[in-house]
This record gives sequence, C-alpha cells and structure tokens, in this order.
Amino acid sequence: MGKLIDGKALAAKIKSAVAERAEDFERKCGRKVGLAVIRVEGDPASEIYVRNKIRACEMCNVRSFAYVLKAETTELELISLVGKLNNDSCVDGILVQLPLPEHIDERKVLAAISPEKDADGFHVVNAGKLFLGEKGASVACTPLGIIELIRSTDESIEGKHAVVIGRSNIVGKPIAMLLLENNATVTVCHSRTRGLKDITRTADILVAAVGKKQFVTADMVKPGAIVIDVGMNRDDTGLYGDVDFDAVKNVAGYITPVPGGVGPMTVAMLLKNTVDGAAHE
Ligand code: NAP
Repeated sequence: MGKLIDGKALAAKIKSAVAERAEDFERKCGRKVGLAVIRVEGDPASEIYVRNKIRACEMCNVRSFAYVLKAETTELELISLVGKLNNDSCVDGILVQLPLPEHIDERKVLAAISPEKDADGFHVVNAGKLFLGEKGASVACTPLGIIELIRSTDESIEGKHAVVIGRSNIVGKPIAMLLLENNATVTVCHSRTRGLKDITRTADILVAAVGKKQFVTADMVKPGAIVIDVGMNRDDTGLYGDVDFDAVKNVAGYITPVPGGVGPMTVAMLLKNTVDGAAHE
C-alpha cells in the first residue's frame, strides 16, 4: 500500500507557524491580523466551509469578521460591502465564499476585492502574477496546499510528469502553473481530453480536481505515483473524493485521503495568505 499523506497533520503544523507570526504582528502593530469572511446564504456546503475557516482564525490568533448576507442580496450591495472592507484598516484579508447565487456575477465581485487583500488569490491581478511567475502574488489556497502536500513526500517535483485532471480557475489552472514553476512537465486534462487513461497512466504526480465521486480508478494510475485527491463530493452516504481511494492506495506511492488531505490544507493556506498580506503592509 502507498503512503498516506496526512493533510490534517501538515495543516496543524502550518497553522501553528501562522499563529506565531500573527502573535508577532499583534505585538508589533497593536492589533490582530484581520480576515473578513462573506457568505451569501443558499449553499449548504458553504456554511460548513465558512465555519471551518472562522474556527481556524481563532486557532491562529487572527480576528475574523463574519458577514452572512441574505440569498436575495444584490450584486451592488455585495460589492459595496467589499469596498467598505477594502478601506477598513483592521481588515488584512477578504474572502467571499463561492459559489454565489446566480443573480450575482462572481467575476465582478472578485474583481472588486483589493488585490492586496485577496486572501483567496482569485483576483485577476493575482492570477496574472502567478501566470507571469511574479513574486508576491496571493496564490489560490487549494493549489498552494497541494504543492505543500507533494513537498511533504520528500520526492522532488522537478522533471516529473504531473497530470492535472480539471481546468477550473480555482484549482486546475493555478495548480498547473505552480507545478510548472516547480519545474514539472505538466499536462492539463479536461472533459474533452481524448484517451484520458493513457495520459494519467504516465503521471508521476496525478492531481484529480474533477468533482466526480471516485472518478480516478486504479487502472488510471502509474504504480508509485503521487496521487492528490482534491474532490469533495457529498451524497447521502457521505463525503467522497475524486479518487477511488480503496483501490488506488494499492497502486500509488503516496495518496491523500478525503477527508483529511487537501481540505485542511486549503484552510491552513488561507490563514497563511492572510498573515502574509498583513506583513506586506
Ligand atoms: P469544476 O470547476 O467543476 O471543474 C471540474 C473540472 O473537471 C473541469 O475542468 C472539467 O472539464 C473536468 N472534468 C469534468 N468531467 C471530466 C471528465 N469526464 N474527464 C476529464 N475531466 C473532466 O470543479 P473545481 O472547482 O475545480 O473542483 C473540483 C473538485 O474539487 C470538486 O469536487 C470540489 O468540491 C473540490 N474542491 C475541493 C477543495 C478543497 O479544499 N478540498 C477546493 C476546491 C474544490 P471542463 O473544463 O471541460 O468542463
């Protein structure tokens, strides 16, 4: 069986380092690092994610400002709240929990966040900096966490063939860019990819960000590969990843579980981004 990559343990280590930096900041600046978290009602999973993020703030000595807006909130109201938080000197990071209701244009809301306070790293300026390889960008939390999970195996990324299944703006594209920056040879697959299994079987590092329960089966995985499961697929029977964990663990060299893999790392990197943002002041 492959080795389990323990995202929960790694996230705890990162959060404890972040908590120390947040305490330093408070000593020097006379106030806590602040993260504003905005949720618009209507998505049940978002409620759980936001609760976890606020709990993580408490653990990391970061002050959270929680805003829960009614499902019928207008785009303008949401954007004006973001504007207010952009100008609030107690707020170092702003996060708008996605997805938003259909009547709100997600891109407009994300673009309204000041790039310096973009804790999630979704702003077009930060995405552009990542694409150009510029330092100092706020990078999306899930991809940042994935890189740390891969690094924790002590296997080098350089020169490896990394295959990413999924090309979303929040996971697939940014993780592809980070892997490239780490000198992997990267292939990005999506729903129109032909011969997916032939491609994934050549992956030394396989990142599954598909959003389909147990999509990656054992016959899609190269023996010894590092397999990172980003998927969070909930149904009546529980929470499942995008990887058929029980079968793939016997083929992979390293594998992340769901839960306890990528999820906790996403939250840890959010706190790290927030404290990094405060430190840039
Ligand atoms: P998304 O926006 O729905 O993107 C899914 C991607 O998978 C798309 O690029 C899609 O291709 C591709 N895809 C769908 N069916 C495919 C198939 N049959 N073969 C190959 N590719 C296929 O999803 P996302 O936001 O990236 O999230 C992916 C998963 O990660 C979800 O389960 C989500 O809940 C989870 N997630 C977890 C965390 C965490 O912290 N653990 C964070 C974010 C997301 P097309 O582009 O061609 O449609």
